[in-house]
Amino acid sequence: MKTNFPVEQLRGLQTPFYYYDMSLLQATLDVIKKETAKYQGYHVHYAVKANANDKIIKLICDNGFGVDCVSGGEVKAGLDAGCAPEKIVYAGVGKADWEINLGLDADIFCFNVESLPELEIINELAAQKGKVARIALRINPNVDAHTHHYITTGLNENKFGISMEHLDGMIERIASMANVKLIGLHFHIGSQILETEPFMNLCLRVNEIQDQLDAKGVNVEIINVGGGLGIDYKNPDQNPIPDFAGYFATFNEHLKLRDGQELHFELGRAVVCQCGSLITKVLYVKEGVNKKFVIVDAGMSDLIRPALYGAHHEIENLTSTGAEQTYDVVGPICESSDCFGKEERLPETKRGDLFALRSAGAYGQIMACQYNCRTLPAAIYSNEL
Ligand SMILES: *Cc1c(COP(=O)(O)O)cnc(C)c1O
Repeated sequence: MKTNFPVEQLRGLQTPFYYYDMSLLQATLDVIKKETAKYQGYHVHYAVKANANDKIIKLICDNGFGVDCVSGGEVKAGLDAGCAPEKIVYAGVGKADWEINLGLDADIFCFNVESLPELEIINELAAQKGKVARIALRINPNVDAHTHHYITTGLNENKFGISMEHLDGMIERIASMANVKLIGLHFHIGSQILETEPFMNLCLRVNEIQDQLDAKGVNVEIINVGGGLGIDYKNPDQNPIPDFAGYFATFNEHLKLRDGQELHFELGRAVVCQCGSLITKVLYVKEGVNKKFVIVDAGMSDLIRPALYGAHHEIENLTSTGAEQTYDVVGPICESSDCFGKEERLPETKRGDLFALRSAGAYGQIMACQYNCRTLPAAIYSNEL
């Protein structure tokens, strides 16, 4: 399945902008629904931080998914897009009082708690409202996701979650608290994970922890294994939809759920990444010393992943079929890291050509900023053209 760009319709629009192929998003959601339906008690929450555009969240929630949030703003974005409160989970190491209160007022499904001091505050704020907050403990499973060190989260050295040594103490504290109820265990080991092994290791770790809790007579209703499934940045046309079948099968095979226990997932990138592209126009083709630069009107302010993580997005010239040449593709921002590709092989390019920076639906538009007093990029949806 190729992501087809309606080039003639895009040509007239003010660049740069994000273009979202909503039929690819729907096809992706259909696959997730089909694959999770094979198992009992599997629930998927979409990780809003990947892309918080109202229309994207709404389509996902209209398909029956919940949302996973990491801030009060995201809880609000989920509610505004029509997500049912009982499908909202909320994690984050630094939840402010107003954010916790927002979650309590909305009666969200679960707070994923990351420390003892946070637990105390949730208990206190819930008491003030005469409520009982449902919580899961986010455990740092010390599992290596083998991913970029900026996006690994499940190692002891990371700031996220509660270390396994502190788990027993936390559970004892919860037993003495009147306004929190422990319903689950939560994990999230990192992002852009393409191997099976880290997920398998996570399952084995969850099994160990559950055995230890069983021995103490502690039962939880839900296990939440977070997100992190990666996508194919190199071949967006060949692999527009990630291998959800293999992903869910890994958990089904290795994770030992207790009777009636639900398994929750928080997928972000894998849901929305391939449906989005950053569309940008070529401003100039500049001769350097031994190099040709294509200068486009999008920059790191619109898509920061290359500058932030050294990530690479496939670059496609949508309007030229000329003979291939070699170019460095750079943005207009006054930073040397404002570069989308070095020595890219592209059809002969001229001023006015349209480029698509592919696989930009996740951690793209939401990370855009106004550095250099630039305008934030707009969003264009395939079903609204
Ligand atoms: C970021 C995040 C996710 C989603 O990660 P992806 O790699 O986009 O699937 C899920 N859960 C938590 C707690 C997160 O912080």
